[in-house]
Amino acid sequence: MNKPRVLIVEDNVDNYELVRFLLERAGYQVLSASNGVEGVDAAKREQPDMILMDLSMPEMDGWKATAHLKSDDATRKIPVLALTAHTLPGDRKRAIDAGCDGYISKPINVASFDKLVATLLRQARADLQS
Ligand code: MN
Repeated sequence: MNKPRVLIVEDNVDNYELVRFLLERAGYQVLSASNGVEGVDAAKREQPDMILMDLSMPEMDGWKATAHLKSDDATRKIPVLALTAHTLPGDRKRAIDAGCDGYISKPINVASFDKLVATLLRQARADLQS
């Protein structure tokens, strides 16, 4: 089976490097974009299996980028996990309201990161087959 392809949309280099490391270690192929505008373009072009979406970014933030992706038939089925340092429940709710399928809190807990990504990918594949 092909390696699942995961798009990371993140403007912070340190966070990006950590997430990329964890995904590659888990056997995924990584694509990247550094703001919401690039992220939306890359999602349409590359049709990744999943998107990890930072929220606070220049050009277009992750809430807006997710809302765009979820309102477009070409990208709406791609699962989006928000990467958020926003610890207020309101920010998480905003991410879910924008269409995110879940969220990962920063700083990242490595064990739960691997589990959550794998679970969401499995669900997405099952949905595509049903
Ligand atoms: Mn950011």
